[in-house]
Amino acid sequence: MQPVVGLELEELQRALAPEWPKFRARQLYDAVYRRKISDLDAVSNLPKRLRSWPVGLPAIEKRYDSCDGTRRYLLRLGDGRTIETVWMPEGERSTICISSQAGCPVNCRFCLTALLGLERNLTAGEIVGQVLRVAEDNLLEANADRVNIVMMGQGEPLLNLANVLKATRLLADPDGIAISPRRITLSTSGIIPKIEELAREPVRPKLAISLNASSEEQRRELMPITRKYHLADLIEACRKYPLRPWEKLTFEYVLLKGVNDSDADARRVVKLLARLNAKLNLIALNPGPGIPYETPEPARVAAFQHIVRRSMPCFIRKPRGLDVFAACGQLKRMETVPLTTS
Ligand code: SAH
Ligand code: SF4
Repeated sequence: MQPVVGLELEELQRALAPEWPKFRARQLYDAVYRRKISDLDAVSNLPKRLRSWPVGLPAIEKRYDSCDGTRRYLLRLGDGRTIETVWMPEGERSTICISSQAGCPVNCRFCLTALLGLERNLTAGEIVGQVLRVAEDNLLEANADRVNIVMMGQGEPLLNLANVLKATRLLADPDGIAISPRRITLSTSGIIPKIEELAREPVRPKLAISLNASSEEQRRELMPITRKYHLADLIEACRKYPLRPWEKLTFEYVLLKGVNDSDADARRVVKLLARLNAKLNLIALNPGPGIPYETPEPARVAAFQHIVRRSMPCFIRKPRGLDVFAACGQLKRMETVPLTTS
């Protein structure tokens, strides 16, 4: 039997017809998405036969708790594969970083996930299921206002766009999980035709672009996908992207010591992004085995930020969960915890 999670209301209605009246579908929808119940057996006003329908959330295989409150989850899917999801509480707010694929086919040179290669796309249910499982494990209250979702875990979301969009509709539905699209961000390595497709969607996440280089040549080196989707064309696609009134484009830039972190790089980045309504997030490289780059000193990161900030908003993203391999670019199912933090 197909699990409930991942089905939209109309699909549930179709699955139950003609035997069950429509209100049963709404009851199921409400239980799984709004009340976040992971086992329908707990829903006493459902007929017994419907109570045995599996919700289908991924199982928590392992949880790695960081000293900074971050939790990295290794979740097991129905077919036995595993993916990673990260929970990052911060005061009243929290961010859940979810995966869109198992592994990733884009081979960025600085990213551990790239070493996994692509295993498969996740279904909409598997994408939404990560949010529901992590919400349950952290006793998250129904107040969706305080949760941000970032599609920045394993995978390239724009190479699984149909499922990512369906998951976004489910996450954003005011009658269900009710997380506003303003609080959902998708990050891409720059799959240009898919950015254009995304632009046409009525319900879509905010767009973040992993820039990571200040010139065409440098980006080709660090992100070989640039050979297919050129930096100049990517910037042009961003210029054409129809931002909503409340929206800004976010660019992310991983700083690699002595590679893309000079003052000249910072000035080139400013020039590249000059005509865009954008902000830049700097991420000092999170290291990992097999990654042939080093992390720049904090002073270098600050100097880079100082130059960019004269022209556009520019923030330094502080790493979360480094000690449990939960930080950006580190999601590769690490078993051991070789880094120490005090
Ligand atoms: N595939 C998507 C989303 C997942 S990667 C993308 O590339 O945008 C999320 C972010 O982590 C990206 O901005 C990426 O550039 C960054 N990242 C990858 N490896 C990293 C590393 N080793 N240290 C810091 N950030 C990294
Ligand atoms: Fe894939 Fe993003 Fe990692 Fe590049 S940075 S390999 S696109 S997950």
